[in-house]
Amino acid sequence: MRADAQADLPRTAALRHALHRVPEIGLDLPDTQRLVLDALADLDLEVHTGRALSSVTAVLRGGRPGPTVLLRGDMDALPVAEEPGEEFASEQPGVMHACGHDLHVAGLVGAARLLAARRDEIAGSVVLMFQPGEEGLHGARLMIEEGVLEAAGPRVVAAYGLHVVSSILPTGLVSGRAGTMMAASDTVRVTVHGRGGHASKPHLAQDPVPVAAGIVLALQAMVTRQFDVFDPVVVTVGHIRAGSRDNVIPDDAHIEATVRTFSAATHAAAPERIARLAEHVAAAHGLTATVDYERGYPVTSNDAGEADRAERVARALLGDAGWLTAGEPVPGAEDFSYVLQEVPGAFVFLGATPAGDDPQTAPYNHSPRARFADDALAVGSALLAALALDRLAEG
Ligand SMILES: [Zn+2]
Repeated sequence: MRADAQADLPRTAALRHALHRVPEIGLDLPDTQRLVLDALADLDLEVHTGRALSSVTAVLRGGRPGPTVLLRGDMDALPVAEEPGEEFASEQPGVMHACGHDLHVAGLVGAARLLAARRDEIAGSVVLMFQPGEEGLHGARLMIEEGVLEAAGPRVVAAYGLHVVSSILPTGLVSGRAGTMMAASDTVRVTVHGRGGHASKPHLAQDPVPVAAGIVLALQAMVTRQFDVFDPVVVTVGHIRAGSRDNVIPDDAHIEATVRTFSAATHAAAPERIARLAEHVAAAHGLTATVDYERGYPVTSNDAGEADRAERVARALLGDAGWLTAGEPVPGAEDFSYVLQEVPGAFVFLGATPAGDDPQTAPYNHSPRARFADDALAVGSALLAALALDRLAEG
């Protein structure tokens, strides 16, 4: 499998370069979708496209009956202006495949080719999930709503996905863990309602600014006093806004924060605790606060048995040096979490640090300087195909 994937690398790399040149943002990715459909055209797959988004769902039927597994690659790019230098650099100003999703798409096409070449040995079906809108738009949830888990008929029994990283892991190294793999990410917006007035007579007004400042600090006390240190919560107030000039007390103040949690318990508890705190800090000063808590992606959680499978398959494919058990989760968030809420599966990271770059210092994903090594494609496609075969062999 590994040798076949390596032999196919020129084709997967060419597709990756074509995708990288035409990055698209969001749920509607017509150029990307066209490249995927063209690449799959001669593989004898059952192909469907999405309604609410430009997804591609392809079903590969094995030679014999059996269960169905799902492999996923996300397709969307980011509003990042790519730093010039790459031979196949973005041709869309201000848009870049800075998170490596071009490798995910090309790697999944590569996996489809590896599986199609082994169709007669396969007992069951493989659903290939090409997904737009990973960057904050819940594309995976939309595809679930449109039936991706039942695309082959019977519901899929397991699902696998991976994410490349342009630093931290050297190219080809696969890393994962059982249980929480990535954080849940929510957004909270607090408005403190006061009453504006002259800055020299604050007692005649209701100043929302010190109340907002109090809420910001109280949030950090809440994190350390109300949550278990071994089940951490991150609250970062990234945006705060109030007033117009020094001698005017404004009517209100606004705070916006990201909330990262790593377990179902903290994910469930965070909204009420944050709302209670903001409302009561405001009340203590005689003001009111309204709290708008928006759920983002849930925790990405790997099934223990499927995480074991990922480790075993990666070691078999790449040798013992090809697998690293992650010591802790990654505080980023990922919408493959919606799939893993529905079916057992595993999501792993794959090193794609360019040769010669130091994994400790190379620019990370989302940087305009992020560079991903093509060589990771052969590892990624072989790993996904091998995971599908390994699970289907269980019946
Ligand atoms: Zn990403």
